[in-house]
Amino acid sequence: MTRRSLIAGAAAAAAVPAVAAGPGPLVGRQRWDVIVVGAGVFGAWTAKRLLEAGRRVLLLDAWGPAHARASSGGESRMTRSAYGADAVYTRMAVESLPEWRRLSDAAGLPIFQPTGVLFFFQRVESFLEETIQAHRRLGLPTELFDAATMRRRFPQIDFAGVEAGLFEPDFGVLLARRAVQSLVAEFVRAGGEYRQVAVRPPTAAHALEQVVSAEGVPLSADHFVFACGPWLGRLFPDLLGSRIFPTRQEVFFFAPPPGADDFASARLPAWADYNDGDIYYGFPDLEGRGFKIAHDAHGPPLDPDVGDRTPSAGALADVRTYMARRFPALVRSPLSEARVCQYENSSNGDLLIDFHPQWANTLLVGAGSGHGFKHGPAVGRYAADLLLGTHARAESRFSLETKEAVQARAVH
Ligand SMILES: Cc1cc2nc3c(=O)[nH]c(=O)nc-3n(C[C@H](O)[C@H](O)[C@H](O)COP(=O)(O)OP(=O)(O)OC[C@H]3O[C@@H](n4cnc5c(N)ncnc54)[C@H](O)[C@@H]3O)c2cc1C
Repeated sequence: MTRRSLIAGAAAAAAVPAVAAGPGPLVGRQRWDVIVVGAGVFGAWTAKRLLEAGRRVLLLDAWGPAHARASSGGESRMTRSAYGADAVYTRMAVESLPEWRRLSDAAGLPIFQPTGVLFFFQRVESFLEETIQAHRRLGLPTELFDAATMRRRFPQIDFAGVEAGLFEPDFGVLLARRAVQSLVAEFVRAGGEYRQVAVRPPTAAHALEQVVSAEGVPLSADHFVFACGPWLGRLFPDLLGSRIFPTRQEVFFFAPPPGADDFASARLPAWADYNDGDIYYGFPDLEGRGFKIAHDAHGPPLDPDVGDRTPSAGALADVRTYMARRFPALVRSPLSEARVCQYENSSNGDLLIDFHPQWANTLLVGAGSGHGFKHGPAVGRYAADLLLGTHARAESRFSLETKEAVQARAVH
């Protein structure tokens, strides 16, 4: 690590309150209990859990927590527990929610916005029925709406052809970048170490002994976690290059009509239109950012480093056509912001939380697959328990061996 790169790293990290303040330069002679590579939502929560378990933890990121090209970057993410038959994710979303509320309170800023979440359906799909069954089993207060009830409660939405809806009153929207940056600041205040360091693809014959920074500084630990989102395939090309599929996703914000509060969070929940499995979703106007909308369909492959992030006219036209159908009051609303992000999909949408097949001290965490953010606290707990050997039962759906090299999305 050169003096210049340390200064540059500190300056870049200065955008994150308190994170930049580290206890002096990193040198190769030090040794940590765990080094976590990647300070997105998964790495940050895993590092926090390991610290709480009494471990000495170093968290590294090449560009900073929730930076603009990270999958955890950007304004907002939905948290919901409607997952059809995939009740493992319902449980994780439910387990995570109190942690998000706690982080919100501790940060003194709205990180969780309890807008409620409305999922609506053209017909009574198995996804809806299985969600209701799972929620009843868990005692969740999810309400089943008919079209007349939705029309009365949410007149901003044209529910033509819609038969039923699920309303989750306790869920809502997470302010993504703010959440991860606040979490890393909290991790540092609690005694964790964070540095802006890029790590080279690791190599080792047996157990991994160290990672090496881009400048050639070796950093040693007993255990390692790689939570590198869409870059996992870069770090482990043979293992994950064909099993993590980064896809181009576009999100748009539109200015609501002047003076009206129809699209404020007091009147409009976060929503998702199941649309025969071709989901569109969006959020009310939060913090004046505008009405957010996105098409959940996987876009073309995107290189997370050099992929072009210019929003496309095609994707804009797609969401405008959709808005004309379901949000007629916004048909002439000006575009206020557009962003290109990437999902880092596994073959079927299941998360990856498993050991490296050759290095028993190294955990791979990722494949959020467009729905992972909300699960951050539960992923961190699961990953930390797995690494510390305290997990009662491993979830086979998160295993490396279930990750195929052909995409066939199953989890929504
Ligand atoms: C447009 C969009 C909408 C989404 N909507 C939702 C939603 O509504 N609800 C939901 O729950 N989820 C949603 N998701 C999914 C969710 O945001 C992601 O699954 C999640 O943020 C992934 O987090 P991560 O920590 O795995 O990856 P990342 O956030 O990408 O973090 C990985 C980090 O690793 C670092 N890194 C990579 N290589 C190196 C290296 N060599 N050395 C050091 N650091 C390195 C990167 O800089 C990066 O910061 C959405 C995602 C997108 C893109």
